[in-house]
Amino acid sequence: MIESTLRDAFHRPLRDLRVSVTDRCNFRCTYCMPAEIFGENYKFLPKTEVLSFEEITRLTNIIVRLGAVKVRLTGGEPLVREEIETLVAMLRGIDGVDDLTMTTNAYLLPKKAQALKDAGLERITVSLDSLDDAVFRKMNGNRSSVQKVLDGITAAEKAGLQPIKINAVVQRGVNDNTIVDLARWAKDKGYILRFIEYMDVGNINGWRMDDVVPAKEIVERIDAVMPLEATERNYKSEVALRYRYQDGGGEIGLIASVTMPFCGACSRMRLSAEGAIYTCLFASEGTDLRGPMRAGASDNELEQIVRQTWGNRVDRYSEIRSGQTDPARKVEMYHIGG
Ligand code: SF4
Repeated sequence: MIESTLRDAFHRPLRDLRVSVTDRCNFRCTYCMPAEIFGENYKFLPKTEVLSFEEITRLTNIIVRLGAVKVRLTGGEPLVREEIETLVAMLRGIDGVDDLTMTTNAYLLPKKAQALKDAGLERITVSLDSLDDAVFRKMNGNRSSVQKVLDGITAAEKAGLQPIKINAVVQRGVNDNTIVDLARWAKDKGYILRFIEYMDVGNINGWRMDDVVPAKEIVERIDAVMPLEATERNYKSEVALRYRYQDGGGEIGLIASVTMPFCGACSRMRLSAEGAIYTCLFASEGTDLRGPMRAGASDNELEQIVRQTWGNRVDRYSEIRSGQTDPARKVEMYHIGG
């Protein structure tokens, strides 16, 4: 008899699976995949090393059987993976997936939104760090205008992908002076905007604490022009702190991994494009499933590896950040999808 919910060493259940379907992206965001490192000749994973849709579906099925109910498709940029809607339909067929969503930069949504919806995708999260075109281009490696992303969001709306959430990473001295405009726009449009504290993900984004705008300050800036009040999380392990507008005009979220860590209820596992599972965004290493799977392991054998990996999990990087944090090389975010 399979246990419904698997618990880690801190008794945290496995509830969310983030599936990175590719390590490639059509943007070059400075805090994730800076262009000076990921240039024209950068060697991404060869196709043979990337999981097939059948392999992703098989592993997702096993992890859902162990308790994951929410599946988020990420990358790199998931829409650069060809025929991604085929995978959406395969995952939609898995019993136990209560919530199937995707995080995208929306650039390819005009072409894909309807097909994703028809395949069973329910909702979508779009990364948009600023409405100021010059600021946005500076942050995405000059790979897209704001308008292209807005066109993608409009396509998602037309296709009926709802609700639409917007994620914005806030960096001091880069886009923090544009967050009020972004909040006003999202409020008018009825989108749930979540501000993300700039994080020391991976090893290459040159992160400094000085560049972090704490969630508290972000709230103060918005509240000064559009009064806010704190409200409850939707569920215990939800990453965002929620604030709603006092005039009833919607809400914003704050993902405060640096100043208000939420490791205590973290229920997220990540599956990388090459088939390794990671138990933390800031992990240094993952556990390979592709090797055993391609070597003929049964579902039960793969399940045992997942059980053991989660069962032994003691991750709480954000809670112990600062001096205590082991400087071991962390996995890059584009590899396991935020
Ligand atoms: S730092 Fe790791 S353990 Fe903490 S919330 Fe993030 S992913 Fe979870």
